[in-house]
Amino acid sequence: MGPVPSIAIVGRPNVGKSRLFNRLAGHRISIVHDRPGVTRDVVTAESADGYMLMDTGGLGLRESMTPVEIQDAAETPVAFAMEAADLILFVCDGRDGLAPLDEMVADKLRRLGKKPLLIVNKIDFADQVGRADEFAKLGFEDFHRVSAEHGFGVDDLVEEIRKRLGPVENESPASEERPIRMAFVGRPNVGKSSLCNRLLDAERLIVSEIPGTTRETTTRELDYKSKDGQSWRFRLFDTAGLRRRKKIADSLEYFSSLRTEEAIKQTDVALLVLDAREGVTKQDKAMAGLIVDAGKAFVVVINKWDVAVDGFRRDPLSGYKDENHFRSEYEKAARKELFVLPRFPMLFVSAKTGLAIEEMLSAVRRVDKGLDRFLPTPDLNRTIINMMESRPPAARKGKRFKIFYAVQTNTRPFTIRLFCNRVDRLEDVYQRYLTNGLTTRFDLLGAPLRFTLTGKEVRYAKKN
Ligand code: GDP
Repeated sequence: MGPVPSIAIVGRPNVGKSRLFNRLAGHRISIVHDRPGVTRDVVTAESADGYMLMDTGGLGLRESMTPVEIQDAAETPVAFAMEAADLILFVCDGRDGLAPLDEMVADKLRRLGKKPLLIVNKIDFADQVGRADEFAKLGFEDFHRVSAEHGFGVDDLVEEIRKRLGPVENESPASEERPIRMAFVGRPNVGKSSLCNRLLDAERLIVSEIPGTTRETTTRELDYKSKDGQSWRFRLFDTAGLRRRKKIADSLEYFSSLRTEEAIKQTDVALLVLDAREGVTKQDKAMAGLIVDAGKAFVVVINKWDVAVDGFRRDPLSGYKDENHFRSEYEKAARKELFVLPRFPMLFVSAKTGLAIEEMLSAVRRVDKGLDRFLPTPDLNRTIINMMESRPPAARKGKRFKIFYAVQTNTRPFTIRLFCNRVDRLEDVYQRYLTNGLTTRFDLLGAPLRFTLTGKEVRYAKKN
């Protein structure tokens, strides 16, 4: 699914923007209230065609403004919303005729490099059509005459919008057919090769070799038949060739080696393999960092669980009630160690006994499936508003980081553009706070989140 196209409705006050907004909106109107530190003056809704509509209120412009004030108004949240929009509906008032402020808005749009759809509103009766002619002076290609009040011309407008933006794509059924690219990554001896072999030996599998994309990795197509008879397709990047190199493999150098990064780069979902006997080591964390930095989704696999369970069984004094208790305590401790990572599935498996291998693959599928989502902009903004209210960013030299508007711009990895006052004021701790809140709210499983910031640039070099 592609991003949902967005439409900003702009124009000087009282030209009928809200009326038009209501005409175009479907049912779900969400009002973004004026609250400290967050979006102001922008109301969003979903249009009947599924586009995101943004009503920008008065654009912050008044007749009495000086040119400097108008320039400053370009930095309001409204301007940010305009910048984010795929299409701008520039509304004028056909009853009033062309006003100086219309020309200012037109000018501003031109400076932003936007080609708006000009709409002359309040053409309520057939004999008023000629009133719109003078708006040709604004120099935009074409314009639409409508009566937002009575609905004249609105259907044509909707048609034109559809023509410009195209249909909102729905989840493509084809994505179900595409094999999920995956690779086992982890320290030496955690059992990556064994897991590969376990998969390749599985009876439930049809394996076909396809030419590797790099010399170091072999790529295999797996067609796994699940217990309930479904066909699950994967493309496995097998780094088993690493085996021979164990001698040199213990240095940290190994982990950040080109090969690992290469394997990670090619995956949809990386399986980070840990050795149950050793818990979460420093190198495991470094490896997790590589995956997240590459923007890749992941599942954590605790391998050799058979050994851990044996150990637990042999030790009557372990203090755990039963195996489940042992596992849940283990999981809690491991997750605490991996706290820098977003939400992710953790599987307890054994390459040796075949324990939970299907569950592991199922988790990979679940994670992959979530990666193509586009988070609804109103929900996204509401979540951020709530988070910023319950824990505002720390003030630096009396100034606070503010987010005016947020919109998801990409997937794989999830990328969220934040329109903010100053790009340099988003601190790492706060970024992590936002990441955690969003991954929880939208249940982004095993998926790293990226923020891109749009706002005033830093005027001095940032020290890291
Ligand atoms: P790699 O370096 O990550 O590819 O690790 P290998 O697959 O070569 O495994 C390292 C050692 O751990 C080998 O001796 C395996 O037999 C053993 N091993 C791997 N997985 C398991 C497991 O689930 N249970 C047990 N008991 N041993 C395992």
